[in-house]
Amino acid sequence: MNRPLCIAHLYPDLLNLYADKGNILTLKRRLEWRGLEAQVTLVTSSEEARPGDYDLVLLGGGSDREQEIVSRTLRRSRDEWKAAVEDGLPLLAVCGGYQLLGEYYQLPDGTKVPGLELLDMVTVAGSPRLIGNVAIESDECGTIVGFENHGGRTTHHHAPLGKVISGHGNNGTDGHEGVRYKNVFGTYIHGPLLPKNPALADFILQTALDYAGIDVKLEPLDDELEKAARTAFQVRRMNLSEVAAQTP
Ligand code: GLN
Repeated sequence: MNRPLCIAHLYPDLLNLYADKGNILTLKRRLEWRGLEAQVTLVTSSEEARPGDYDLVLLGGGSDREQEIVSRTLRRSRDEWKAAVEDGLPLLAVCGGYQLLGEYYQLPDGTKVPGLELLDMVTVAGSPRLIGNVAIESDECGTIVGFENHGGRTTHHHAPLGKVISGHGNNGTDGHEGVRYKNVFGTYIHGPLLPKNPALADFILQTALDYAGIDVKLEPLDDELEKAARTAFQVRRMNLSEVAAQTP
C-alpha cells in the first residue's frame, strides 16, 4: 500500500477567493477515485509552513491586504521555499498567491509588497481590473478554462501556463497566462481551477506523485460531468448567434 500524498493548503483563512479550496477537494477526490489517499494539511496564518513536509502545495487568491499578511509570513522561510522549488516541489499558486511567487506586487499607491522571489516576475496593479471568463491553450494539458479577476498586471520571461484564447491573462497585452517553472504552476484562473480542468488536475497530481516517489501512473477517469461543465462554459463563451448558426 502506498503512503498518502501530502497536500498542504496554505493560509485558507486568508487566501480563499472564488472557492479556491475546490482545487484541494478535486485533487483529493481524483486520488480517491483511483484507490489512492491524500493527507490534506490546512496551514493557517498563525502557523509556520515547512515546504519539506509536503508533496504538493496550494496557495490561493486573496485581497491586497491579505496578500501583504501572507507575504510577511512566507518570507520568513523564503530560502527554504526557494530551495524546495528548485528541487522540484510541486506548487500550484492562484491569483494573489501567483503574484506572491515573484519579486513584488506593486499596489495602486505605488507601495511594493515583496514576494517570495521564487520566479523572475513582477506584478503592478493597474486599471481597469481584468475580469471575466478566460480560456487558454496549454502545451501540456490542452484547453484550460475558468474565471479571472485581478488588478495586477504580471510580466515574466518564464514559460506561460498557456496562451490566451479569450480573456486577459497575465497582463492583457502579451497573450500569455500564468507561469510554468520546474514543478510550479501559477495562474490567474479561479472559479475554482481544477474541477473544470481535469487534465490539468491529473497532470499536477502525477507530478506530485512522481516527486513523492509514489510509484503510480494515473489512469484516465470517466470525467463525464467535468466535460459537460466545460462544454457549458464554451457555449457561454461563444456569442448566441454563433451557437444558433451551428444548431441544425
Ligand atoms: N490582489 C490581487 C489583484 O487584484 C489578486 C486578486 C485575486 O487574488 N483575485 O491583482
